[in-house]
Amino acid sequence: MTQQITHSELDEVVKRSPRKWVYLFSEGNASMRELLGGKGAGVAEMTNAGLPVPPGFTITTEACNSYYDSNRQFPEGVWEQVKAALAIVEKQTGKGFGSKENPLLVSVRSGAKFSMPGMMDTVLNLGINDETVLGLVALTGDERFAYDAYRRFIQMFSKIVLDTNPQDFEEVLERYKHEAGVKTDAEIPAEDLKKLVGEFKQIAERASGQPFPTDVYQQLHKAIEAVFSSWNNKRAIDYRNFNKIPHNLGTGVNVQSMVFGNMGNNSGTGVAFTRNPAHGEKKLYGEYLLNAQGEDVVAGIRTPSPISKLEQELPEVYQQFLEIAQRLEKHYRDMQDLEFTVEKGKLYMLQTRSGKRNAGAAVKIAVDMVEEGLITPEEAVKRVEPSQVYQLLLPRFDEAEKRRAEQEGRLLAKGLNASPGAAFGKAIFDADRAEELGKAGTPVVLVRPETSPDDVHGMLVAKGILTARGGATSHAAVVARGLGLPCVAGCEGIRVSEEQHLFRVVGSDLVIKEGDDISIDGATGEVFAGIIKTVDADFDKETDLKKLLGWADGFRKLGVWANADYPRDAKRAVTFGAQGIGLCRTEHMFMEQERLPIVQKMILAKTKEEREAALEQLLPFQQSDFKGLFEAMVDPQTNEGYPVVIRLIDPPLHEFLPSYEELLVEVTRLETQGGHEAELAEKRQMLEAVGAMREMNPMLGLRGCRLGLLFPEINVMQTRAILGAAAELEKEGKKLHPKIMIPLVGHVNELKEVRRQLEATAAGIADDAGKPIDYKFGTMIELPRAALTADRIAEVSDFFSFGTNDLTQTTFGFSRDDAEGKFLLRYVEGLEEPGLKDKVKILPVNPFQTLDRDGVGQLVAMAVEKGRKTNPDIELGICGEHGGDPDSIEFCNEVGLNYVSCSPFRVPVARLAAAQAALSRAEKDR
Ligand code: PEP
Ligand code: MG
Repeated sequence: MTQQITHSELDEVVKRSPRKWVYLFSEGNASMRELLGGKGAGVAEMTNAGLPVPPGFTITTEACNSYYDSNRQFPEGVWEQVKAALAIVEKQTGKGFGSKENPLLVSVRSGAKFSMPGMMDTVLNLGINDETVLGLVALTGDERFAYDAYRRFIQMFSKIVLDTNPQDFEEVLERYKHEAGVKTDAEIPAEDLKKLVGEFKQIAERASGQPFPTDVYQQLHKAIEAVFSSWNNKRAIDYRNFNKIPHNLGTGVNVQSMVFGNMGNNSGTGVAFTRNPAHGEKKLYGEYLLNAQGEDVVAGIRTPSPISKLEQELPEVYQQFLEIAQRLEKHYRDMQDLEFTVEKGKLYMLQTRSGKRNAGAAVKIAVDMVEEGLITPEEAVKRVEPSQVYQLLLPRFDEAEKRRAEQEGRLLAKGLNASPGAAFGKAIFDADRAEELGKAGTPVVLVRPETSPDDVHGMLVAKGILTARGGATSHAAVVARGLGLPCVAGCEGIRVSEEQHLFRVVGSDLVIKEGDDISIDGATGEVFAGIIKTVDADFDKETDLKKLLGWADGFRKLGVWANADYPRDAKRAVTFGAQGIGLCRTEHMFMEQERLPIVQKMILAKTKEEREAALEQLLPFQQSDFKGLFEAMVDPQTNEGYPVVIRLIDPPLHEFLPSYEELLVEVTRLETQGGHEAELAEKRQMLEAVGAMREMNPMLGLRGCRLGLLFPEINVMQTRAILGAAAELEKEGKKLHPKIMIPLVGHVNELKEVRRQLEATAAGIADDAGKPIDYKFGTMIELPRAALTADRIAEVSDFFSFGTNDLTQTTFGFSRDDAEGKFLLRYVEGLEEPGLKDKVKILPVNPFQTLDRDGVGQLVAMAVEKGRKTNPDIELGICGEHGGDPDSIEFCNEVGLNYVSCSPFRVPVARLAAAQAALSRAEKDR
């Protein structure tokens, strides 16, 4: 009944105002987050659910925005509504604001639509002055409690409203503790606290140049203003920038009657999650302190007890809290993060919000809640971040060990987080030594200035890769991601010396020598000295994750394929749920040790015959490689093969040869030493050949389809190997669908000519096999000209695969190998400009990681449209690194690609991201 009467009093005031600025908790609900902020909407919902919430009201985010629009003045009607609402709270609590007998104290807290923990301001215990403090003493019979509340108020109010230096108060507190011979604030006796309050007021007055406000309404007015202002403090602005929260939302202000957890041992305060935020177990998790106020739990002066202990200490309160926690979770259909206070045995709920959780808990909670009938599979799929799925599958540092390493100052440097996961091992500076030790079972981290295809045998056995140079699509990064190996690339804080087999840490005299233990975290880019143990993941055991991804598969439109060069990777990709291989980079097979000399012979051949002889030697290797890959992709139950896209040779040939600079050094050394005539002649010949192949811009040079046009016999050999392998397996009753892909096409005539070559070869194989081979012929779209002329190119292609690594490189004109190390990351981080407060950001994200929709994306969209115009059945996919990036996957879904292809470890991420993209598209279309 009181509620009705009281509401109408506020209604009267609202009628006279231009707008309703203030909502009693009983007037709001959970759907009003925008207007009341998260905290306001949460307490309103709890109030209306009949839960014990200390009465109060919320000033709207609109009032905050109008406050800024009116030159930091309260808009008309705000203050009148606040006073009317406060009068109602007085009635609800039976206390009086500023009353000497029975004083009402309030808290004034911020609360925006999106939670911004700790970024804005809060004032507690507001309403205390020299008179009301006496009322508090009389009421509680506890002088110490009352004066402690008073000094806390002066401290907080001064810091937030009067901008006083908090250190000034701390010094006085320290002096009092010292003089009283005690260690903690809680032990300062009441008499001392009284004196301390006097000194605190003087500090505040000195700092502000005005008497400390004794009028409680004045205190409230100023505190509300301070909370409005805190929306635009630097901390809050930085936080919003980082978390992409719009700046025009404003904050709500919650004024709530105080309850006290520090009124004896039947009082207390605590925080709890309805489920465990670290692993998702359905059990209350949290901690509390008896006889304490909220900030004591956070301050860490006393060690809080686990929430389960409350069952013994205050059994009735515990039971009530448990029931409320369960009710709130059911109500919000999500795990809740709760704050509560117990005042003299009575429980009060102060906050409820969706709880933050780690990757494992996110998946378990989502799946459990579907099984409990609380949420739908669709909601579960939307609730888990794709990046959390990725994290779950990788080894990670043991948290406690990492913390210890940090404390011991073992963090050496930070590079680019090129491929996530954590690893430790002996720092080894060359691939041969890494291979030797790795094969013998020693954990190794391969450290190189940068890696090249020559290092692959070392990378295959390493636990992790660290390079001083190179970006997110550098050789090291791409290979590491393919292998699921942690990689920190472009770590400019170290200087690697290949000759001395060591690295130095820039700006210190620390040196890591060959054989020293190091640990790297490819998710953060951190490099540590010594061993930090890791904890492993096992997809087969991730039953919840598999269930979640199974639901995701039911929602997604995009196929999810994998980039894989070896049968081992392909098998792993299938376990992760890949439905095909979208890119096999055949050149990686050329790099293996026994093949490289033959490849070099082929490259250095003077005549076509010599070249063909070398290729003939390579053919069986390639054919068995492809057979292995195809076999890995055949469903053993149906004998049906998943699609496999094999790309013909792509990189410039010099990548298969020793480096020009190294050869030059070698030749000079042999010349000066004398006596190595045969070796010298061989090296000279190689030097000459490599010299002849040198290009100023090899990435724009003789590579991709250009190689096969100039040396058709390479294409012929690779086609024979692919189709020959398919024919062999067909004989065993397996049905295969190989797809041959041509890289770096810029002009349709290039493709036409390659197609002519291949068709002739295929016809020959079909003749030998006695039946036609089912294969498809397609191209990568990775040059702007190919995208611009996609209609022509589609006339001779069965499929397109967007090579967005090269397409990004050529669209921006950014070198894939150098840009990130030299300037690109600075573009993303922002450039310091003298005279400007904020850094100038040139790019929002690294376009080699997240597809640049405005530029590169336009080319992709155009090629999709043009390609489908002349070839409606064309199959469209993406195999650049972006195929595993959630934001880019959403784009792929939007432009209507058929599939994305990414490194095997990203397949689960892509399955989830593709489902989320499809669901959000469907929501927009609704
Ligand atoms: C690409 O360019 O996007 C691509 C997949 O090919 P590569 O990275 O091998 O050049
Ligand atoms: Mg490419």
